[in-house]
Amino acid sequence: MARPSVRDDVALMDGYHSPQVEVDVRLNTNEAPEPPPAAFDERLAAGITALDWNRYPDRAAGELRTRIGSIEGLPYGQPFALDQVFAANGSNEVLQSLCLAYGGTGRSVLTFEPTYALHSHIAKVCGTGVVSEQRESDFTLDVDAAVAAVRHHRPAITFLCSPNNPTGRVEPESTVRSVLDAVHEVDGLLVVDEAYGQFAAWSALELIDDSNSVVVTRTYSKTWSAASLRLGYLIGPSWVVDELDKVVLPYHLDGLTQLAGNLALDFLDEMNQRVARLVEQRGRVAEGLAALPVEQWPSEANFILFRPTVRSGEEVWSELVDRSVLIRNCASWPGLDDCLRVTIGTPEENDRFLAALEEVLGS
Ligand SMILES: *Cc1c(COP(=O)(O)O)cnc(C)c1O
Repeated sequence: MARPSVRDDVALMDGYHSPQVEVDVRLNTNEAPEPPPAAFDERLAAGITALDWNRYPDRAAGELRTRIGSIEGLPYGQPFALDQVFAANGSNEVLQSLCLAYGGTGRSVLTFEPTYALHSHIAKVCGTGVVSEQRESDFTLDVDAAVAAVRHHRPAITFLCSPNNPTGRVEPESTVRSVLDAVHEVDGLLVVDEAYGQFAAWSALELIDDSNSVVVTRTYSKTWSAASLRLGYLIGPSWVVDELDKVVLPYHLDGLTQLAGNLALDFLDEMNQRVARLVEQRGRVAEGLAALPVEQWPSEANFILFRPTVRSGEEVWSELVDRSVLIRNCASWPGLDDCLRVTIGTPEENDRFLAALEEVLGS
């Protein structure tokens, strides 16, 4: 018996790897260092006992989508409507649904590297071609080059990530608007991944309108302290949401996820306070790094990308692991030679990281 062969393109793929090592200080996956408030746990426990486990959940996740739309609309004085919100199991499933609906054979997505690896990975899994352009050496995006790339490749989907993972930079409003104009010229769709949106000053949510081909994706995994929940969403034109509803599996959002997702939103103030604390800590970590022999890039997210100048990234990373501090090793990623990415943690975790790094760099 020969093993059945997988799709030719799948045979060529690497899986997604994010090594988990047992350490005291885990600053490698941009999770929130604090759990949601205790009252969230209590109300969730009460809610679970009232769930109709024998029934399918609300297929449209109506309450959840309505509440996400109201909260995201707050800065604009007007809620986003239920039909402008699509929710799924992590923003990764949102991205997958976008690729299933708008990608596929004979179509391509455009990415600007280095950026979030899952954009190209998910596109490939969905049988979509990937074309990639490089950012400048300081990781900014040259707007003329980006517009030219959209016109040249005519991608079905153009991805921007703002703040960009793993570099931390926010895409300026003028850049996003220019790229959107180009995307309109080629009848494509612009996806702005704002997994770290609440940490930044400007959001592309401002552009959401049925006459603009742009969607913004966000997640509970970072600012909402709920990576374990696997819940993400997008805000976009209702005509995009209609198409996504066709490709997603029926009842994909289980009752427990909807319950917890709704409850989490009752703690908006606490979320904003956690974000403010992390922004303050980010300043502290940036200051600490500035005193060490490393190059760093300005971040508007909950992580900082840096490059040791006196030792290789690989060596520094493993000697930090020896000191029970785990950060993300980007040293071998294309365009990120010797770079490391540290997630902002609690004050104590950040202290441990800075002390260990100082020791490793021998300064
Ligand atoms: C962490 C992250 C996500 C989150 O994905 P989930 O599936 O919602 O956990 C999405 N996009 C980027 C750029 C991220 O860094």
